[in-house]
Amino acid sequence: MKRAKYIFVVGGVMSGVGKGITSSSIGKLLQTRGFSVSAIKIDPYINVDAGTMNPTEHGEVFVLEDGTECDQDMGNYERFLGRYLDGRNYMTTGSIYQSVIQKERNLEYRGKCVSVVPHIPLEVISKIDSALKKDKAEIMITEIGGTVGEYENILFLEAIRVLKHKKPNDVLLVLVSYLPYQGDGKELKTKPTQHAVRDLHLAGLHPDIIIARAKIPIDKKRKEKIAFNCGVDETEVISAPDIVSIYKVPLNFEKENLTKILLEKLRIKSNNRVSTKSFSEWQRLVRTVENPRGSVKIGIVGKYFSTGDYVLSDSYISVIEAIKHAAYALKYEPKIEWIDSSEFEPKSKSYRRELRKLSNYGGIIVPGGFGSRGVDGKLNAIRYCRENKIPFFGLCYGMQLALVEFARNVCGLKNAHTTEIDKNTPYPVIDLLPGQRDIMARSNYGATMRLGAYPAVLKSKSIVHSAYHTSDGEFISERHRHRYEVNPDYIGKFEADGLVFSGMSPDHKLMEIAELPKSRHPFFVATQFHPEFKSRPLDPHPLFLTFVKSAMKL
Ligand code: GLN
Repeated sequence: MKRAKYIFVVGGVMSGVGKGITSSSIGKLLQTRGFSVSAIKIDPYINVDAGTMNPTEHGEVFVLEDGTECDQDMGNYERFLGRYLDGRNYMTTGSIYQSVIQKERNLEYRGKCVSVVPHIPLEVISKIDSALKKDKAEIMITEIGGTVGEYENILFLEAIRVLKHKKPNDVLLVLVSYLPYQGDGKELKTKPTQHAVRDLHLAGLHPDIIIARAKIPIDKKRKEKIAFNCGVDETEVISAPDIVSIYKVPLNFEKENLTKILLEKLRIKSNNRVSTKSFSEWQRLVRTVENPRGSVKIGIVGKYFSTGDYVLSDSYISVIEAIKHAAYALKYEPKIEWIDSSEFEPKSKSYRRELRKLSNYGGIIVPGGFGSRGVDGKLNAIRYCRENKIPFFGLCYGMQLALVEFARNVCGLKNAHTTEIDKNTPYPVIDLLPGQRDIMARSNYGATMRLGAYPAVLKSKSIVHSAYHTSDGEFISERHRHRYEVNPDYIGKFEADGLVFSGMSPDHKLMEIAELPKSRHPFFVATQFHPEFKSRPLDPHPLFLTFVKSAMKL
């Protein structure tokens, strides 16, 4: 393909209706037609990245290879497209302003007055172009957070307008809009979508395709109505009803002929390199999702409950997806349940009874987290899993707490703790990384944790060594996001009492994985890194796969 193509995805009516999944699915479909596709997310907030945001408010903070802390949609792109993205695929209003201001300070505007318009939109376009080049992409999909008509994203819409003006045949605009389901007549209402299109007109833009998100499929009548009132062809209105699995969205789009329409509108033909293989593998995945051979029950012990289940599942989205990928690869359906760790705290009268319920699960995960809330309950849950041989998988904070539990109840180090919770613990088995102390003292919190991909070596004959199938001495690489580490002063004590550090940094200074030998426990593995970030629907993460297998008693 001679010239790169740009697809922009914007939202109408309300946010949270699946722009990210739409963008990822469009990317997947174009990939199966042989194109090199990449993606960018633009978040219209001032935060320079997502690192300082509370997951109960904004969902999971996803981490890229280069340590960029970003929106969870970036995880969807990586999972659907099966490619690595980096900080150049992610922008916020804050990061764009930051780089324009930096350029101004460096005299890169050569004495000109630097203005919001055109300099901010031009900076956005130049960032998109440099990501395109870096990814060697033929098609770049850029999703703009929020909804049209908001004050916040107007400069990004202006960037689309400018780019479309420069390259009228290479820019396509997809509006993902929502049709509310109204009253007894059960009618899908199109008026809010018509208003969203009018808002786009105010920004000098017209949608090429409207994805009509709704509870149910939209009928011909409604398609006609949207087409007539919004000035698009009826075939360019795509029905996108709620469905059981996000992985089915590309198949539904295909049924609505979306790929054909996209290619026509972009004036390109399917590539010779077209690979139908990945599409048939995707179809097979969806068949498993719809007809699993059985189910496996996995419990996630967490603390983010105060704002309801919806927020919780958003906070741990990569963990949930990684469990699904592993279960689907084994042709099983995972039944994932949330377990509120406060139920296991001794102050709750029924905590022993609650703990016994853990035996009803195939396996238990204690995921990452911060702060003291829910910690005592998590420690009790980990102890119950260890003593009752329930498959246990600890992720980041989950590993740190597994070590605190082991120190207290196996090594006999009374009141051992992480200094994140108890600065005066007599046994600081988990402590701040050297260097992190100064950063904390300066209240310099943004992007200052140990972030992104780091290598580790695995101990031969360990559970994780056989899970990853690495050859001896070969490194694995996994993504991190934490400030605290296993305190090296206690490694000897842990090992003497039977814990195996089966993954370490190549210089053997940082403990990356802890496990109990198979002779003591069927699966007790905990990682300092976040394996969930690298799991893919067609390529599950080896540790999740081994964990789910053990939960299925395979
Ligand atoms: N709170 C812990 C730390 O900062 C763990 C972080 C996490 O689970 N991502 O080290």
